[in-house]
Amino acid sequence: MAINQQAFQAIKQQLGKASLVAVSKTKPASDISDLYALGQRHFGENYVQELVEKQAALPADIHWHFIGHLQSNKVKYIAPFVTLIHGVDSEKLLMEIQKQGAKLNKKIAVLLQVHIAQEETKFGFDGVELGDLFKKSLVTLYPNISVVGFMGMASFTENKEQISLEFAGLQQLFYQYHTQFSVHGTVFDEPQLSMGMSGDYEIATRYGATLVRIGSLLFGARNYNK
Ligand SMILES: *Cc1c(COP(=O)(O)O)cnc(C)c1O
Repeated sequence: MAINQQAFQAIKQQLGKASLVAVSKTKPASDISDLYALGQRHFGENYVQELVEKQAALPADIHWHFIGHLQSNKVKYIAPFVTLIHGVDSEKLLMEIQKQGAKLNKKIAVLLQVHIAQEETKFGFDGVELGDLFKKSLVTLYPNISVVGFMGMASFTENKEQISLEFAGLQQLFYQYHTQFSVHGTVFDEPQLSMGMSGDYEIATRYGATLVRIGSLLFGARNYNK
């Protein structure tokens, strides 16, 4: 078995109330099946084509999370089945998700990606953009989208204090926004905060993560940096 069963059990013990999204990008469907056999149902993928192929080949009761940077023109391929889109980082993307949700006559659940890292390269809304977005009525503009929460990625650093500060900041924003803007049945209904990966999930859970996205600890290192 290529998956790390011990790590899986240990992580589940540590998570407490948070849920595990097993990040299977670049890994074969057989690895997903192995973890599925141990009871895991939530999996995360970064690439649309790869996700579509795996979804078609694997059991229908898997909940698929799209965690990568999503291009607007690809929303249509995952809209029919995706459980949660984690990285929504522009109004353009929201508009396209709205369009696809309306076509399918369903509500698509999304997390807004918030930029918390020091690196410029990571995607996401900053505090000002988030404020501007919530000044509008999301329910009116995007009736086929449920904004259920936020997603963030900490700086790529060994500095645990830096990571803690970033997660604490996101927790605070999350708390502030869901207190102020929650709308029953849609905006922040059952609010989710997605943060923490293999290297920093323990810190993330201390700052209220409800979803952690873990790949390499479960499936081993990826061959190329995707
Ligand atoms: C790849 C990836 C993960 C998982 O990373 P690991 O360090 O392997 O746990 C989590 N979130 C996002 C957005 C990713 O792209």
